[in-house]
Amino acid sequence: MKIGILSRNPALFSTRRLVEAGLARGHEVQVIDPLRCYMTIASQRPSIHYKGEELNDFDAIIPRIGASITFYGTAVVRQFEMMGVYCVNESVAISRSRDKLRSLQLLAREGIGLPVTGFAHSTRFTQDLIQLVGGAPLVIKLLEGTQGIGVVLAETEKAAESVIEAFRGLKSNILVQEFIKEAGGRDIRCFVIGGKVAAAMMRQGKEGDFRSNLHRGGTASGVRLTPEERSTAVRAARIMGLNVAGVDMLRSNHGPVIMEVNSSPGLEGIETATEKDVAGLIMEHIEKNARPGRTRTRGR
Ligand code: ADP
Ligand code: GLU
Repeated sequence: MKIGILSRNPALFSTRRLVEAGLARGHEVQVIDPLRCYMTIASQRPSIHYKGEELNDFDAIIPRIGASITFYGTAVVRQFEMMGVYCVNESVAISRSRDKLRSLQLLAREGIGLPVTGFAHSTRFTQDLIQLVGGAPLVIKLLEGTQGIGVVLAETEKAAESVIEAFRGLKSNILVQEFIKEAGGRDIRCFVIGGKVAAAMMRQGKEGDFRSNLHRGGTASGVRLTPEERSTAVRAARIMGLNVAGVDMLRSNHGPVIMEVNSSPGLEGIETATEKDVAGLIMEHIEKNARPGRTRTRGR
């Protein structure tokens, strides 16, 4: 098959591993920078062009769209969908995953366990909002934050109020969340591919940090999931409409609670911690699901 990887940077670990896995399985693989694609929009024959050539013979696309290029990146994915090309994650699902509130609302609607979470636009009733999520200690998050930046633990209600005021002063959107203390600075990343957990790791924050992000100095190791954790991860990915997803959860004393579902989960941490060929499993998923020339996308 001819497989395109939509990625800004061919040197990234995840991009390199996907290229390697595709070639190893006998596919033709090309890395395409989504920001360099230009397109014509027409009801009859939509097309995508790249470096002066038309991209018209791909069987599958693996979108690796970074948060900062979601708008243009998802437009490129949508264009491939319009051309009937199998996209490992669809544009709508990627956009959905980039909106934390929308994602949490969708997951809540389907009965997925979540930390008690509150959000508000106005600061007028901050105290009331704090009470609604159970009071301090609580976690305050910038909606636009990634890699643990903009995630703050407020030990007291006074501290929470000051942090909320400060974030508001910066005109940023925030959410407040029950602090899952018993997680002990650990979280679980489940890498879901095609409705199965392909690999899972536990991340532990560095000494004294409640955040377990590897970018913040955390460490990772393989983990054995409970059946409930496994099924929660699979359901969360399905609700989001993602074939490939990184589902982040905390072990709370009332079972797994989901923090976030990522649509371009990185391969380096998970492959290193579990020694699994996750890139190869993504290729296997494509082999089973892409129908060269015959894919009809759902586009829901
Ligand atoms: P980001 O998307 O920036 O990584 P997260 O929401 O995943 O932000 O939070 C970063 C880390 O902080 C998580 O990996 C987890 O270890 C910790 N954390 C986040 N929310 C909570 C919470 N409600 N209770 C306890 N720990 C949390
Ligand atoms: N199905 C609708 C959509 O894809 C609503 C679900 C959602 O908010 O993601 O936009």
